[in-house]
Amino acid sequence: MIKSKLPDIGTTIFTVMSKMADEAGALNLSQGFPDFEVSRELIAHVSNAMKQGHNQYAPMPGLLFLRKSIANSLKDTYNWNGDIVTEITVTGGATEALYSCITAFIHPGDEVLIIEPAYDSYIPAVRLSGGVPVPVQLNPENFSVQWNNVEEAITEKTKMIIINSPHNPTGSVWSKTDLIKLEQVAIERNLLVLSDEVYDRIIFDGLQHESVLRFPELRKRSMAVFSFGKTFHVTGWKVGYVVAPDYLTSEIRKVHQFLNFSVNTPIQYGLATYLADINHYQNLHIFYEKKRDLFLKRITGSRFKPVKCSGTYFQLLSYAAISDKDERTMAEYLTKEYKIASIPVSPFYSDQRNNNILRFCFAKKDETIKKAAKILCRI
Ligand code: PMP
Ligand code: GLN
Repeated sequence: MIKSKLPDIGTTIFTVMSKMADEAGALNLSQGFPDFEVSRELIAHVSNAMKQGHNQYAPMPGLLFLRKSIANSLKDTYNWNGDIVTEITVTGGATEALYSCITAFIHPGDEVLIIEPAYDSYIPAVRLSGGVPVPVQLNPENFSVQWNNVEEAITEKTKMIIINSPHNPTGSVWSKTDLIKLEQVAIERNLLVLSDEVYDRIIFDGLQHESVLRFPELRKRSMAVFSFGKTFHVTGWKVGYVVAPDYLTSEIRKVHQFLNFSVNTPIQYGLATYLADINHYQNLHIFYEKKRDLFLKRITGSRFKPVKCSGTYFQLLSYAAISDKDERTMAEYLTKEYKIASIPVSPFYSDQRNNNILRFCFAKKDETIKKAAKILCRI
């Protein structure tokens, strides 16, 4: 009766592992979300907006008040000087922004470069538009981009490249040199760039996030996607935004208006007020760097070997010294037997390859991090 459009796609690994963690009563360091409180002030702003009657549809592209706050934060951080009315669109999380961007531009047969390991929403979205995902592997040693491989993968049919820095799941980040190279390749080969920057404010060791918005020529062909879920610890609110030049934004909005139309009004008011104060985001990297360091310090002496994490709130740990189980089996085993849940990295590869590495989310209370480390040290 029906012919599935995604016959080989099951439930996302995030849902699978969080459910398994719940059922096993395990500490959940799998799906990426904080276990600590959200700012009372932010919640009060949202609640006040509701009480003041801001409960009907917001404008389709997003509240102007919120777009103004976003523009100020982008100006402050990336020296962005674009147009608030025609270049910023508020979306139902970054997920909707990514989907709208892909749907707006990918025609059947268009090839899209996906840098792997890759966040799991990109490939299904490309395929639903009839596009052809073309995986390009990061360097397995340090998860840096291998430009030779990227350039070799480009054909006459390549329409778009999807990039993600700071990178989920590896925690690697792209350097300024990478962005300069990206700009050159995108211009030479006439590519659109979809840049997933949801962890833009979570970058460590004094590094600077190299947004596509910092590079004027690159910006002309790029869509930069952000998420309030990550920046304000509210993953359940599902509010994000996409910044793109007007000729791209007008097409993206054609999809957005029929996919979602508009985003939760009182939450947009609350975010707009809260975002106006730079103190609410400018030290986020310090907050998470401390958590990364606490986690690393507490697992010293365990048999897990950390992979360098320069951004995001995920730490990869190799268990090669402990077991040769594949990653899914190992993640399940640790959840059920040791009561600690993580995410296997294999689902982020289209060939599901196994590297004996698991991803642990450290967006957790210090107390949770310490408990988790204690378990890991016993394994
Ligand atoms: N991209 C990446 C790399 C992510 O880690 C996430 C996290 N969920 C998303 C996109 C989606 O963000 P959102 O929850 O705002 O839809
Ligand atoms: N981005 C989150 C992660 O990487 C999860 C998002 C989701 O569950 N869809 O863990």
